[in-house]
Amino acid sequence: MSASSDEPTLDLEAIRRDLEARRDVVSGRVSGLAQRPELGSAQGFGKRIGDGTVEAISRLTEIGVGRSLESGLMRTERALAKLDEGTYGICDRCGATIPAGRLRAMPDSVLCVACAATARRDAPRRR
Ligand SMILES: [Zn+2]
Repeated sequence: MSASSDEPTLDLEAIRRDLEARRDVVSGRVSGLAQRPELGSAQGFGKRIGDGTVEAISRLTEIGVGRSLESGLMRTERALAKLDEGTYGICDRCGATIPAGRLRAMPDSVLCVACAATARRDAPRRR
C-alpha cells in the first residue's frame, strides 16, 4: 500500500527552477565578493588605525554579508541535492515530513519547523 496523502502535490519542477535561479543569483554575488583581493588581508586591519579604518570596517561588513549569502547558498544547494536524492520535503535532522505550505513559502527549507527553530537557537552564529 502506498502512503495516502491529503496534501496537494508540490510542483517539484517549479521548485527546482526557483532554487536554481536563486542559486545562480547568490553564487554570482558570493564569487563577486571573493574575487576582491583585499578581502583576504582584512584580518590585519588593526595594524594601522587611521584613514584605513573606515574602509576596513566596511570590508568587514562586506565579509559578513558574504557569509550570510554563503549560508543561504548552502541551504539552496542542499535543497537541490534533496530534490535529486528524492528526499525533498523530508527534514534533514529528524526525518519528519516538512509541510507543503512551508515548502511553498520557503522552497529552500531542509528542516521541519521544530528543527529549524532549534537550529536557530543552537547556532545563532558561526565560530
Ligand atoms: Zn525535523
